[in-house]
Amino acid sequence: MNTDHSYARQLDEADQLRDFRHEFYIDKKKIYFDGNSLGLLSKRAEASVTSLLNSWKDYAIDGWTEGENPWFYLSEKLGAMSAPLIGAKPEETIVTGSTTTNLHQLTASFYKPEGNRTKILADELNFPSDIYALKSQLQLHGLHPDEHLVQVKSKDGHTLDTSEIIEAMTDDIALIVLPGVLYRSGQVLDMEALTKAAQERGIPIGFDLCHSIGSVPHQLSAWGTDFAFWCTYKHLNGGPGSVAGLYVNEKHFGNEPGLSGWFSSLKEKQFDMEHTLTPAHDAGAYQIGTPHILSAAPLLGSLEMIGEAGIGRIREKSLSLTDYMLELIDSRLKDQKLKVANPREEKERGGHVLLEHPQAAAICKALKSKGVIPDFRTPNGIRLAPVALYNTFEEVWKTVDILKTILDDESYKNYQNERE
Ligand SMILES: *Cc1c(COP(=O)(O)O)cnc(C)c1O
Repeated sequence: MNTDHSYARQLDEADQLRDFRHEFYIDKKKIYFDGNSLGLLSKRAEASVTSLLNSWKDYAIDGWTEGENPWFYLSEKLGAMSAPLIGAKPEETIVTGSTTTNLHQLTASFYKPEGNRTKILADELNFPSDIYALKSQLQLHGLHPDEHLVQVKSKDGHTLDTSEIIEAMTDDIALIVLPGVLYRSGQVLDMEALTKAAQERGIPIGFDLCHSIGSVPHQLSAWGTDFAFWCTYKHLNGGPGSVAGLYVNEKHFGNEPGLSGWFSSLKEKQFDMEHTLTPAHDAGAYQIGTPHILSAAPLLGSLEMIGEAGIGRIREKSLSLTDYMLELIDSRLKDQKLKVANPREEKERGGHVLLEHPQAAAICKALKSKGVIPDFRTPNGIRLAPVALYNTFEEVWKTVDILKTILDDESYKNYQNERE
């Protein structure tokens, strides 16, 4: 292991994606390692917001069908641009709603309790919003979550075991919803094996891709995964509250969505204003109302950039960045209280590193005071996400160096060990 500062610079020089960094607004006084909570603004995303604002200025109501990006077709266009990131067909993907509302929509569409098959299978490590949504969907069916929501347990508090999830796919399960990448430990689940097992048992399965889209490649169509949903403000750099996305496999096309609205319509029929819905023959059917054009606008620029970089190269650099970070931590930070809690194996490692320390909150504050932006996860987690499109190997080196200083001189003890 070469721990020299100059070696980090060499890695940056050899980096095929290094030019993308110049397309982002980067505060040179800071090291931003929180792109998995909110990705940075790029100049291209900014330009696409301006362009859509101008289309409102120039066309008013006619902006729905005129201009460079007619609003009536924007959700479909952005869906098609997202499709390569998840290995889906363009018509299987649509940009709409938010992560949580999309989960509500997909659960309303795919959860059909019948006879003995009434339960939803999830896990105990998922993000709270997903669990709240699933519980409220059960309640809408008059079913008690204590009895009908099955949450697969984690042995170590960080990761899930594929074979244990498969064992839990019993014949009383009507729907399976799992994350693609766990938000805390960054573990990548074996979505292919899980889909296969669910299919063999006749159970529809869907994944929350919030932490995997734009970070790891997927092959949802080839695997036959039934549905998926994600946000676009993390690795897709769409900005705060940017419009989310969903995928529905084409084998389900033609079904009525669980929650309908006039944007669920076949586009040619939408303005006939009939009281009987003719749903779109694609993932567009899962839209509800008028698309949030201005919150979708940044995605035109950012998805274009991600497409140019290519998800294969993004994943390759992301793994190199986290590999490098972990190796530096192993060789330079022998503080026994700092524990690497993300999976080590490349196949199971997502786009961020999770460190645990009893004084994690204080360490995060000390890092921030030195210009490093981490992400504190209660009670003891420090997430560091070096993002392939805009972070550098030198930033990784500097961060580990700063972390070493803070731990060696114990300056983190000047901060309260609690969340702000
Ligand atoms: C970020 C994230 C969410 C956020 O949901 P919103 O509806 O966008 O607020 C939900 N689930 C997971 C797994 C996430 O990582």
